[in-house]
Amino acid sequence: MFRGSIARLLGLLLLSLTLTVSLQAQSGDSAIVHNHSDSATVTAADSTSSALLTEENHVADQAETQREPTLWEMLTRTKHLVMLLLMAVGIGVLFFVKVNRWIRLLGVVIIFFLFGSELILPVHPSPMCGVTKLFMFRFTWGQWFVGFLALTLVIFIPSLIYRKAFCGWVCPLGAFQEIVNKIPFKWRVKQFSFTAFNSVRMGLLAMFFITFFYVKESMDALGGELGHLELPIWKAYSAYNIYDPINYFEYLHWGVGTQWIIMMTILVIASLIIYRPFCYLICPIGAVSWLLEKIAPGKIRIDRTKCNECGVCVIKSPCPTIKPLIKADSFGLPDCTSCGECLSTCNRDAIKFSFKN
Ligand code: SF4
Ligand code: SF4
Repeated sequence: MFRGSIARLLGLLLLSLTLTVSLQAQSGDSAIVHNHSDSATVTAADSTSSALLTEENHVADQAETQREPTLWEMLTRTKHLVMLLLMAVGIGVLFFVKVNRWIRLLGVVIIFFLFGSELILPVHPSPMCGVTKLFMFRFTWGQWFVGFLALTLVIFIPSLIYRKAFCGWVCPLGAFQEIVNKIPFKWRVKQFSFTAFNSVRMGLLAMFFITFFYVKESMDALGGELGHLELPIWKAYSAYNIYDPINYFEYLHWGVGTQWIIMMTILVIASLIIYRPFCYLICPIGAVSWLLEKIAPGKIRIDRTKCNECGVCVIKSPCPTIKPLIKADSFGLPDCTSCGECLSTCNRDAIKFSFKN
């Protein structure tokens, strides 16, 4: 009864959140448009009647326009607040709802439309940009850019509280892969070699950093010889961002073309065969949050006094994680995205989400 009420409450919260964001995004857009038209009006008025604005006011206006947003301002942007709210809703769902396949499907469809369709929030969260460009600009311009820093914090701080909070409850690419993986498919492989996948993922992450250090050294050595380049130096560096050619988040701008069709076909086929292949094989956020999983206190736990290792949860859950979890094999445990789908699979009620044993 209590759980049912909470579930309905969370459902309502999610629905109202979606509507609120939709309205906010639209009003945000119109505010931007409004601001642009305002400044255009001011510019026109300025040219016709410059006496109306003093030079001092003009300089002050310019300074205000060019002011860098603070970290707090970036952290409290609508998009980031919605992301944090969704992760909070995620925790509530894991505690109070017996998530099954259909509830989870509803959840990932909402996440996908909210962040991955550009219908509701105009800018989707690209964690690959947030994290890789944060370091790229640090190495090239010597500056931590607050926009990327804010996104990186929003992604990783909640993942310190419960496992892969961002991946399970916000990421549109994760949601997309999960939706595809729910389509019945004859040649599905549930238990694949996570160690092999993770080695590639970690290798890419190591290469990303090594490449940047190496490229920076080479470019510093070339020094003035690069002075003739018309491109800003950071663009030259960005050519060495190994993640750029495989940044699937860019395809969520839905610019359909030959490359888009090829890349999305690969992702769809891979997602039919394997649960979240991009996450396990490539994503740097997946790699870092897999490490954070080890210390996050909120996670799926097995009550060993109830579990008789019947294996029903292994058959019914979509991920490769539940099997080693049941066997208490914590070394090299595949990512758990805290999707919660395993919670409803156990007849003995041996699977739960909690902060302590
Ligand atoms: S691993 Fe990457 S792609 Fe997968 S859910 Fe996490 S952030 Fe998204
Ligand atoms: S063990 Fe698997 S099914 Fe259970 S919450 Fe983690 S990823 Fe989801």
